[in-house]
Amino acid sequence: AITVTALNKWYGAYHALRDIDLSVAEGERIVICGPSGSGKSTLIRCLNRLEEYQSGTIRVGQVELNDDLKNLDAVRRDVGMVFQHFNLFPHLTVLQNCALPQILARRTPRAEAVAQARRYLDRVRIPEQADKYPGQLSGGQQQRVAIARALCMSPRIMLFDEPTSALDPEMIGEVLETMISLAEDGMTMVVVTHEMGFARRVADRVIFMAEGQVIETAPPEQFFTAPANPRTQEFLRQIV
Ligand code: ATP
Ligand code: MG
Repeated sequence: AITVTALNKWYGAYHALRDIDLSVAEGERIVICGPSGSGKSTLIRCLNRLEEYQSGTIRVGQVELNDDLKNLDAVRRDVGMVFQHFNLFPHLTVLQNCALPQILARRTPRAEAVAQARRYLDRVRIPEQADKYPGQLSGGQQQRVAIARALCMSPRIMLFDEPTSALDPEMIGEVLETMISLAEDGMTMVVVTHEMGFARRVADRVIFMAEGQVIETAPPEQFFTAPANPRTQEFLRQIV
């Protein structure tokens, strides 16, 4: 589904991504972890072109991400993204948050967009919140709205950037459960998270990044019990 080859990115003089190679198969679940500043967000944002990059190639499906805006539209259509800070529209209701992007970006007829929004609010188990505003919801509920909103666009791939790290501990579980259920439905997922329980349960492969490089890639069993690289070992010692 995604193929990244020799990706390099600089912010000015700062070399943020160094020769990243990564492939994500259809239906595969990848968890990316690593210390703060290692380039996890930068990498995931490159995958739907929220960030520019200077060399290398990224293919999503059959489409190569380049400066051609038509390609960009095609990729954004296929790739949903959920951020740490929900990024909901505060002046729109939950239902409008989910329906409006479909109407604006897809020209979906209003009634159909609303029906789809209700379907996915049901899917993330907050149908009763449809007419509230984001500010009236808990963090966990807001994040589930953000997931529903992304799903309303019928993405083939979902990217998550630390979706639970802004949440109070008691709300993390409900968001992880939503993500687990998406995974069980076969969604292709790339998830930046330090929730290692989630990684163990859901990931096909765990990727450890440091200083803009992929240091280690392994299935979770191997990653957690027998990490090969000393820096991975050190990282795991610190977070568990
Ligand atoms: P965290 O775990 O804290 O979210 P991260 O692994 O997601 O970290 P990135 O946000 O990808 O790290 O940042 C990687 C490096 O690039 C950091 O050193 C950061 O300071 C730098 N960086 C990120 N965004 C920018 C920017 N817009 N301009 C300049 N430098 C940036
Ligand atoms: Mg980040």
